[in-house]
Amino acid sequence: MIIAKARAVDGPDQQFRSAEIKRRDLDTSDVLIEIKYAGICHSDIHTAHGDWGPVNYPLVPGHEIAGVVTDVGTGVSKYKVGDRVGVGCMVDSCGECDNCRKGEEQYCLKGNIPTYAGVDKYGEPTQGGYSTHIVVTEDFVVRIPDNIALDAAAPLLCAGITTYSPLHHWGAGPGKKVAVVGMGGLGHMAVKIAHAMGAEVTVLSQTLSKKEDGLQFGAAHYYATSEPETFQTLAASFDLIINTVSASIDINAYISLLTLDGTLVNVGAPAEPLPVQAFSLIGHRRSFAGSMIGGIRETQEMLDFCAEHNIAPNIEVISADQIDEAYKRVLASDVKYRFVIDTSTI
Ligand SMILES: [Zn+2]
Ligand SMILES: [Zn+2]
Repeated sequence: MIIAKARAVDGPDQQFRSAEIKRRDLDTSDVLIEIKYAGICHSDIHTAHGDWGPVNYPLVPGHEIAGVVTDVGTGVSKYKVGDRVGVGCMVDSCGECDNCRKGEEQYCLKGNIPTYAGVDKYGEPTQGGYSTHIVVTEDFVVRIPDNIALDAAAPLLCAGITTYSPLHHWGAGPGKKVAVVGMGGLGHMAVKIAHAMGAEVTVLSQTLSKKEDGLQFGAAHYYATSEPETFQTLAASFDLIINTVSASIDINAYISLLTLDGTLVNVGAPAEPLPVQAFSLIGHRRSFAGSMIGGIRETQEMLDFCAEHNIAPNIEVISADQIDEAYKRVLASDVKYRFVIDTSTI
């Protein structure tokens, strides 16, 4: 058994504390990773606070993991000691269902095994990346290209793939008009990736406070949704809208911005229902859709795409002692654009 240092939380209102957690001995297909950096995702905060239902504490969040392989099981063929690797939101799946066979492990019909707050196939609780080491089966490990720094690579494992997958699936590219709702951790990645795919990108943000950043990330246009004329100006104009906001919004107002056959994809997960009016959809044969992270093959494709196009998230590296403060700042939208924990400080 491997003992890893970690930062854990014991309840919804608790502060993070130092902890030691057990990582399993390497099975034949397992890879031991020394974690170098772990991103802070909004999902970590929701889970730590128990917003999405009961959680088994102590909890070690973190599903944006970048590190280096330090040991491999006897049957591992894809990775060797010293390789730069990443782990995202899931660490295993059944491998046999229709969706797993298609490489869409995130939609495993038996449920994928999340990187934290789940139970692995040995019956042990999974613990995430706010930690010095993790053991993961090689099929759920991805390779980080040499020209992406490990700290910048970390947020790609959730924020990157969560936005890349729907942009790719719904054909963002030359001649397509794509709108990104929200300019947070997910939104800023969506802008960079959609722009690199060749789409004409518009940001729809509450205010114009991040306009300069948005244009620099590759957006051609930037509108404030607090101004009602925005919705008139942009009516029926987008092929694809990626909604990264996890709060309730007037979804019909956003659907009205879709052109014929346009699709609005929700990647944020608001707790409240989003009431869609049928007339919003049928008038222009529009679709309202959802998307959740991406499969392992697609995650590798996303990393290679980001390397090829020199795309990296904008990050603020913090020490492990700053996690509680970082959570408060994420909730206050006071981060440009992703916190990443330097795990050498754990
Ligand atoms: Zn995430
Ligand atoms: Zn499956």
